[in-house]
Amino acid sequence: MEVVLATANEDKAKEIREILPDDTIRFLTLTQSGFVGKIVETGQSFTENALIKARTVHSQIGGYVLADDSGLSIDVLGGAPGIHSARFAGENADYPEKIAKLYKLLAPWPPEEWLAGFVCVMALVRPDGRESIVCGECRGQIAPFMRGDNGFGYDPIFLLPDRGLTMAQISPEEKHRISHRGRALRQIAELLRAESVGKKD
Ligand code: IMP
Repeated sequence: MEVVLATANEDKAKEIREILPDDTIRFLTLTQSGFVGKIVETGQSFTENALIKARTVHSQIGGYVLADDSGLSIDVLGGAPGIHSARFAGENADYPEKIAKLYKLLAPWPPEEWLAGFVCVMALVRPDGRESIVCGECRGQIAPFMRGDNGFGYDPIFLLPDRGLTMAQISPEEKHRISHRGRALRQIAELLRAESVGKKD
């Protein structure tokens, strides 16, 4: 079964392939799928944005399309940066700049109150247009400084309190076991496997 990933984010695509190396599901990039055009994320929630991405690609190329909308949600900031995680410090800001902006916003609270979650909503659109939405979350807190080189994005400041390590200090396998993306994608895999078993019967 081929599933097109409605994302231009290489880090997400790499993680999705690592989480489900199972070769019964082959993930294609947007370029491999033949999709041309731009996806404009105008939604007000992870779910709306995931659906916009998946529907935009599906309307052009059909088939199975999977979109991941994800981000960092910090409790004392009312869930920010949330759906704006990728661009909340400006279109061209790099991660050190985004993280510096987060620390400024967090300054009024002591670090022990910097509780946070990584959230991932995945939208699956099937060849006949039927849709499913799943959500995965991983709770943690913002570390007072960056640590680790693995992963991407906000991983170096996402502290796993029970491990005393950031998401960027654990192996990719460990990250995928507990991450928001791992949790969401395993639900999608169950749906797809149940459907392909159904077809053989
Ligand atoms: P999206 O393309 O609008 O879904 O933006 C997702 C953004 O959320 C990414 O660009 C990162 O900033 C952040 N993000 C999502 N997942 C992760 C993760 O697993 N680690 C670190 N940052 C993440």
